[in-house]
Amino acid sequence: MEFKEATLEERHLYYKKEWKIKDLPPFLIDSLKQREFGFDHDGNGPKDRYETFNSVREFERFMKIKAPYAAYSSISYYEKPEKREGWMKAEIVFDIDAKDLKVRRCDCTPGNICEICLEDAKELALTIIDTLRSNFDLKNIFLIYSGRGYHVRVLDEEALYIEDRSKIFDYVTASRVPEDLFMKHGYPEVFRKMFAFTFSRMKNMRSKELIENREEIINRMLNRRVDFLDFVRKNTKKRILESVAEINRELVDGKVTIDTKRILRLPSSLHSKVSMICRVVKDWENFDPLRDAVPKFRK
Ligand SMILES: [Zn+2]
Repeated sequence: MEFKEATLEERHLYYKKEWKIKDLPPFLIDSLKQREFGFDHDGNGPKDRYETFNSVREFERFMKIKAPYAAYSSISYYEKPEKREGWMKAEIVFDIDAKDLKVRRCDCTPGNICEICLEDAKELALTIIDTLRSNFDLKNIFLIYSGRGYHVRVLDEEALYIEDRSKIFDYVTASRVPEDLFMKHGYPEVFRKMFAFTFSRMKNMRSKELIENREEIINRMLNRRVDFLDFVRKNTKKRILESVAEINRELVDGKVTIDTKRILRLPSSLHSKVSMICRVVKDWENFDPLRDAVPKFRK
């Protein structure tokens, strides 16, 4: 499939005929008045900021008339969103961009996407959600297809007030090698899971032993076998674990997670650069963006 930029006419067609206010997730409708909105009207970035809306109807009218190139809303709730003042709380977000994935099964060059790396991005998002649920007991989690990747948005009330998000980012992405790799649960388990994701996709590995035994290494790792990397020397072993941790850290855009005032692409809006719909994913396993997020004017 080709990812073509939408014309002005197509944007208007989308917002007039296809976009509906009810496609906006309830968690945004319920907090509409506390959010800051941002818009990109011409494809040059979200320069129209500090926008606020007093009612759903007002917002609906704005979208239908303007048919923005891109629409965003703050992950944060403000007392005065029109001034970005009185920060109350903010969703915790993990941003996975398929075009920036450091490891992927396809041969896409950085900046490009295909069906396979979109699938990889989803697998990564689901892995992160699994960690958030099992290790942090978070439940109110949304998976959003962003147009070229996925957003994981956490709305559990107790999580919204955390200001320093770097620790949770490092934990969830497994960006450090744990001291004890083989502990049954907790962080070591998260690391092993992420090791499997990354190591199975790593390219340009110089060692023949690693390439030939890749699957076996992953299996042993997941089964907590201390001999999982016995195919290589001790020094190499350490290096591999560290490079996996380093890649893990870059799979998700850390700047987005740490920034508690971020604006994020609005679910239901059109990602005009690639003509795809940013939308809440309901059926996590079966969602296929090339079937479920393509606007009618592209079909
Ligand atoms: Zn690809």
